[in-house]
Amino acid sequence: MAGGPLYTGSCLCGDIKLEAFGELKWIAHCHCPSCQKVSGTGFATYAGFNKQDVHLTEDKLKTFRASVAVARSFCKKCGVPVKFEGEAWPDEVHIHLAMLDNAADLQPLGNVHVKTRLPWVHLEDGLVAFDRFPK
Ligand SMILES: [Zn+2]
Ligand SMILES: [Zn+2]
Repeated sequence: MAGGPLYTGSCLCGDIKLEAFGELKWIAHCHCPSCQKVSGTGFATYAGFNKQDVHLTEDKLKTFRASVAVARSFCKKCGVPVKFEGEAWPDEVHIHLAMLDNAADLQPLGNVHVKTRLPWVHLEDGLVAFDRFPK
């Protein structure tokens, strides 16, 4: 492929480096209970990429399987959530948005799992909202 990555990023301690060589497909806030746990607050924000476009420092990642269908990976050293992979999206990897260096320039498209959102999270962002994850 010509040129450098379209996106770069890192975790808090810098052990995990991210390079993405294809456009991201979508950005969304997820309000499901497990994303609340993982983020430590009301919701998690993800950037969806084609799996083959994203290169990560895989040997510095620790992966936790909450179920057979879902894998969440974290930095072994600093614990920052890095990626989500689910059987429902076999060709995608969902990167925690704050991993990306240019997160401030990127625009979320919507909110998912809003039925389980915490009551003090106010959705006045004008974005499309889904009760569950759209297919
Ligand atoms: Zn780290
Ligand atoms: Zn979620």
